[in-house]
Amino acid sequence: MRQLLVVLILFSLVSALMSTKASAANNIEGVRVWPAPENTRVVFDLKQKPDFSYFTLSNPQRLVIDFKNSKNAVDLKKLASTDKRIKRIRTSKAKTKSGIRLVLELAESFQLTIFPLAPAGQYGDRLVIDLYDKNRVTQVANIPTNTKRDVIIAIDAGHGGEDPGSIGGKGSYEKRVTLAIAKKLHNIINKEKGMKAILTRKGDYYVNLDRRTQIARRNRVDFFVSIHADAFRTRKPNGAAVWVISNKRVESEMARWLINREKNSELLGGGGGVIKNTADDNLAITLADMNKEHSLEVSVNTANNIIKQLKKITKLHNKTPQHGNFAVLKSSDIPSIMVETGFISNYQDERNLNSTKHQQKIAQAIHNGLHKYFIEQPPMGTYFASISYQKHKVSSGESLSILAQRYKISIAQLKSLNNLKSNTVRIGQTLKIPSAG
Ligand SMILES: [Zn+2]
Repeated sequence: MRQLLVVLILFSLVSALMSTKASAANNIEGVRVWPAPENTRVVFDLKQKPDFSYFTLSNPQRLVIDFKNSKNAVDLKKLASTDKRIKRIRTSKAKTKSGIRLVLELAESFQLTIFPLAPAGQYGDRLVIDLYDKNRVTQVANIPTNTKRDVIIAIDAGHGGEDPGSIGGKGSYEKRVTLAIAKKLHNIINKEKGMKAILTRKGDYYVNLDRRTQIARRNRVDFFVSIHADAFRTRKPNGAAVWVISNKRVESEMARWLINREKNSELLGGGGGVIKNTADDNLAITLADMNKEHSLEVSVNTANNIIKQLKKITKLHNKTPQHGNFAVLKSSDIPSIMVETGFISNYQDERNLNSTKHQQKIAQAIHNGLHKYFIEQPPMGTYFASISYQKHKVSSGESLSILAQRYKISIAQLKSLNNLKSNTVRIGQTLKIPSAG
């Protein structure tokens, strides 16, 4: 009882101290503007939790924010706005003497979300404003209606914009590495006959996790691959890993730690699901259970293929697919994997992840794994499903490159199709060759 009393006294002391602190002036210490295809995010860095109110005005469109008991330390004029949604950010006469009023002059009227964010990662208290275009249209890739459609792969570069993801010991940002690898993979896939790739983000901005899967669904993708880089609290762990969704409880400490990190990261950039997409996703959710088992099987098989490819070019953190409950993998109607390309918290991995050459190798490895799966198990109606094969018995003087030339396919394809580990073939060996038509 006495202990409880002591605790209570301490508690009231601490809260008294905290409330004195809270009454001190807040300060706007920084402003960041993140333009994205469908929205612009404005983030105010604050000394402490904001006490604010806001309203909008039209003709011309404006968003007015009143910060109570605050100062502004940012030169708003220097916010050279290259953003198409915000024309200017300026101050105006405040409601009270101790407050500050900011006016965002807008290009038109937007769907508005405004919310404070608690300190996380390298950031302190923030106020986040999202201006969404009123007519958000997902760009849908042109899918020809003939019977030989492409296998469509969604490539998801983890994090972005306000959410840097993990930060390496030498200061590299996960969000940059993931985008670089995603873009390289996008290029490789789009050069492959019978495959097509779409990116869930193309630049340095944050895309809400629901939105990422929505983009994938609207494009009717066959597969979803999310690209990340790991980090741990110590420098030692290294290597790549591939994750698939799990229905079981996550057991290893490492897995729990990583999952929490990704969750925090989502909060950091996404505002904790303030924006929810509804309506047309309901059907997809109903269908999800039916497809769950099939899609997990596809995910695991592809993950295994990709691990085999990654093994040739990088250390592996895990030799088998890992199971975890990452939000980005929750869309169980679409086969999905998450490739952790290495540990950005490990110096050697960090150096590799920043090398263009290594990024290209990782992208190629992911592509090879995907290609192998889809050429062996092509979805109905795809070009891959329409390919028929002939057999070729290797005779003396024939090499892979001669055969590749003769049958007009790449050596890589020939190898992948026949599970060849090297470039040498034996006389008398039978090879599978795609035949035209
Ligand atoms: Zn990540």
